[in-house]
This record gives sequence, structure tokens and C-alpha cells, in this order.
Amino acid sequence: MRTMFNSFKKRLSLKKVKRSEPPCDDDLQSKRELFFKSDTVSGGGVSASVPPSAAPPAPPSTLKDALSKRSATLPEPQETNHVEANGIATKHSNSVSVDVSKPPSTAPPPTPAPPVPISAPPAPVPTPLRSTENIMKKPEHPPVAPKPDLPKIEKPKTKELDGYVGFANLPNQVYRKAVKKGFEFTLMVVGESGLGKSTLINSLFLTEVYDKDKHPGPSLRVKKTVGVETSVVLLKENGVNLTLTIVDTPGFGDAVDNSNCWQPIIDFVESKYEEFLNAESRVARKAAPPDTRVHCCLYFIAPSGHGLKPLDVEFMQRLGDKVNIIPVIAKADTMTPEECKDFKEQIMKEIGQHKIKIYDFPESTGEEGDGADVTKSLRARVPFAVVGANTVIEQDGRRIRGRKYPWGIAEVENLEHCDFLALRNMVIRTHLQDLKDVTSSVHYENYRCRKLAGLSHDGKPHRTNSNKNPLAQMEEEKREHDLKMEKMESEMEQIFQTKVRDKRAKLKESEAELARRHEATRRALEAQARELDERQRALNAERAAWERDTGLSLDDLRRRSLEANSKETVDGKEKKDKKKKDWSFKSVATGISI
Ligand code: GDP
Repeated sequence: MRTMFNSFKKRLSLKKVKRSEPPCDDDLQSKRELFFKSDTVSGGGVSASVPPSAAPPAPPSTLKDALSKRSATLPEPQETNHVEANGIATKHSNSVSVDVSKPPSTAPPPTPAPPVPISAPPAPVPTPLRSTENIMKKPEHPPVAPKPDLPKIEKPKTKELDGYVGFANLPNQVYRKAVKKGFEFTLMVVGESGLGKSTLINSLFLTEVYDKDKHPGPSLRVKKTVGVETSVVLLKENGVNLTLTIVDTPGFGDAVDNSNCWQPIIDFVESKYEEFLNAESRVARKAAPPDTRVHCCLYFIAPSGHGLKPLDVEFMQRLGDKVNIIPVIAKADTMTPEECKDFKEQIMKEIGQHKIKIYDFPESTGEEGDGADVTKSLRARVPFAVVGANTVIEQDGRRIRGRKYPWGIAEVENLEHCDFLALRNMVIRTHLQDLKDVTSSVHYENYRCRKLAGLSHDGKPHRTNSNKNPLAQMEEEKREHDLKMEKMESEMEQIFQTKVRDKRAKLKESEAELARRHEATRRALEAQARELDERQRALNAERAAWERDTGLSLDDLRRRSLEANSKETVDGKEKKDKKKKDWSFKSVATGISI
């Protein structure tokens, strides 16, 4: 084990030397910039109205570079271990092919690329792309250099099977495994106090997620500064367990001066990414680290009828590339249907104008027929105008969740009254997994790339110091890298020590077990010997008593019996001889030979 550890250490130190060169991340930065600042705004069809930029974003080759750098710093065997139970997110990030042959550049760390000019000649408007597609789609660049001939991948031939083999059961295996493992989902609610966030969460999950006695809603916990609080509940439905984490932000937008009130929220979201990244990059990591990343953020807009407030714009602009934002119009029962429709249009217009990125519900969820049509129609309802209520009202024998007014009942679960059902269906029933996937493959990947490229959350280099000597910068990076390596080494050392400790403890245990067994056998043998001694003594006493009673000794008895035996033998021989003589006499007389 020690030799294995030493060889691994050697490998690490070799990599240390290689990694001392600064990373080449110019491309990465510019591509991130292109992605975030791209003129194509995804979400609710807003993007279609914006003309395409002259220079489309480059392919994510730098993402590969960043990955290759990461993989170069990590021990190889660990990579293969990291497969999540459901095989979706983390597997995806590991399966990106890495071009390690590319030598690292010695250029200083990158600075943000200038925004892409929009003065392009009119071109056909592209179909709006989802955030994931924005990253992954290859732009139509004129070829710069001839591509090297890649080995052709043969398309597998389709073969008919003669019988049932069993792999058709694979989906069931995955299903069972997923159900057994349970699901995790983290939902964040942001908005001013009193907009009905806690009421809506209770209505969404049809339970008192916010227990009134133990956990007053955010409005009752108004703070001078914005706080971030989480509450975790385990929900069960038809044998499926969902660990739901609700993140609320009491105090958001409640102060007179709300500048920077989004910062604690950004810090929270990024801290969860950081936790996940650390869990992933640990030497001894779990196959599937717990996913506490924020998968969805319901942003509550006050039903003012006047469009977005500056705070709404600022928040959504800053958080749009970090988390899936779903805008929600609170207390929709305070508006008439026309007012609500106009308000929605106004909000979507402003979202487009301010290039805000909101979660773009994919049109297709794999469902066909009616399911797909319903998804399409629900998708058109963004931003969802919702009504929340904790009370259930009886009407015509029906139990309705709603708000009772002198002029009628505003039903929560009625699509003609509000979009609550649309929101619930889209977030929980049809798109929950997509929200998790986008979090993992877009927002988390962006965070990871920024982190590996040494950029802060606003896309600027962490240690921006324009006056800094590039050599000094390189030195600093080298120092940081060495520190990281040392940390990894110490982690390895710790693991090694733990393993040695475990092995020693096991050896001690088996030694003690052997000693215990040896002692038990020795005791059993001693007891047997003692018993035999006692029986011997008893036999001797019995013999002495018998000799006393009979006046004979055993030796006498033995002698007598020997004598008797020998006499019997002699008598028997004489008889035999006599018999033989008689026979021979008779045979002579009769003439028969024997
Ligand atoms: P929070 O501070 O955002 O969590 O808001 P609460 O859920 O505590 O709700 C604040 C108040 O608004 C309570 O009195 C709720 O009954 C009321 N409320 C919640 N949802 C709605 C709604 O959809 N419409 C109306 N009219 N009132 C609501």
C-alpha cells in the first residue's frame, strides 16, 4: 500500500511541475462572455425579437481545456468511480472529451472579452435556444484550419433478436434504483415580504411546509438585512420520497435602501456550487455527493400593474445566469383578467429589453399527444400569475383550496382563475428533472468554469490587478497551485493513515480472536485431563475395595485365568487328537480315504 501511495505521490509531484504554468483561458472567458452577454435572450420566446449578433459564440473547446486541466490535477482512477446512481449529471460532466495534448499557454490570466457587436447585417432570426443549447451549439464559422482526419465511428447495425434477452427491463432497474434512492429538490423563493411566498409553498405541496407554530412565514421574520434560511421536509407520494429544501430570503426588498440586497442570495447560491465542487474534487469522494444546489428560484413580482421595479430587474439580471429563475406574479386575485394579461405582456417586454435570463421551459418533455399540447399551452402562461391559500372551502360538496370573497371564490387550482396549476404542473410534474439538469449542466458548469478560470461571479478575474507583473501573477498562481497540491497530498496521507489504522485494528482484532480461541482450547483440554484423572482415581479406589472384599488381588485373578485358559487348550487338543484317531480307524474299516 505504501509503495502505491508513494508512486501516486510521485505522479502528483510530476503534475505539479507541469501545472506551474498559468492556464490558458482567454478563449474560455470570451466564450463565457459570449454566452452570458449574448443578444439572444432565452425564455418565453423573448429571444426571437432580438437580432442575432455578428459573431456567434465559439464552440466550447475551452470548456474542454478547463476540464482537462482539472482532470490533470486529479488522480485518474478516481474519475472512473464517479458515476451518479441515476447516471445523469455528474457522469455528463466527466464524459466530456479532453484534449490533453494541447500545451498550456504562458499568457497571463484572461480579461473579459469585449461585448459582441450587434451591428450585423440582417439575418434570418434563429429559433430561440435554451441556455444549454447556447453553450453547446456550434456556430457556423468559416473553416479556419483543416480538421485532422478523425477515425470514423462505425454506426452499429440493428439486429433482430430471436428471443427475449432481458435488457428491455433496464428502464425498470433504473426506475427501482431511483425510487429507492429518493429525490432531492431545492426551491428558492425570493420576493418582498407579504407577497404570499409561504402561502404559495404550502399550496404547491398541499401540506404545511411552513408550520405556522414552529416556523412563521418570511413576513413574520422580517429582518433589517436580507437573510437566507433553509427548511427541509421529506415528502412522500405513492412510495416516492422527495427531500424538499425550501430556501427563503426574509428581508429581501424590505429596506429603504435595497442596494446589494441580492448579494447574500448570490453568495448562498454560489456557496452551494462551491460545496458541490469541493465534494466532487475530494480525493475520497462519494459516488453521488448530496445535491444541495438551488434548482429553481421563484421570483415574486408585486401585482402593481406597472411592470417590473428596478429591484426586480437588478435581481433577475444578476441571478439569471446562476439559477433557474421563474417569474411569478403574486396575489393575482387582486387584478382583473385584462389587467393581468397586460401586466404579463409588460413584464415579458421588460425581461426582453433588459436581457434578463429566465428559465426557458423546453417545449417538449418527451411526452406525446395531449401531454405535449398541454405543456405547450402552459408554457405560454409565463410569468405565472398565482393565487395562494391555506384554507379549504366547501362548496357544492366540493372541497376547494381558495380565497373567499363576498363576490365569490378565487380558486387556487382553477386555470380560469389563475396560473397556479400551470406553475405546479410545470415545476413539479413535468420539468422538475429538467430544472435539475439545467442547474447541473449549465449553471453549475458555468460556475465551475469561472472558478477554474479564476474569475469572480461577475466574470472578472478574481485577482484583477492591471499593474501586476505577469511574472508575479504566475508566481502567485504557482503558489496557489502548490498549495492545492499540498492539500491533496495531505488528504492522501490522511486516507493512507486511516487505511493503515484500520488494517492494524483488524490485525489486532484477529490476533485477539486467535488468543481467545487458543485459551478456550487450552481450558477445555485441561478440564478433560482433570476429568480423566478423577476417573482414574475412582477406578483405583473401586479396585482396592474389590480386592479387599474378595481377598484376591487382580494379579492373582489374572494368573488364575491364564492357567484356566492353558488347561482348556490342552484338554481341547487331547480331544481333537482322539477324534482324529477314531476317524482314521473308521475309514480304514470302510475303505474310504479322508
Ligand atoms: P410572505 O411573507 O411572502 O411569505 O407572505 P405570506 O404567505 O405570509 O402571506 C402574507 C399575507 O398575504 C397573508 O395574509 C396571506 O393570507 C395573504 N396572501 C397570500 N397569498 C395571497 C394571494 O394569492 N392573494 C391574496 N389576496 N392574498 C394572499
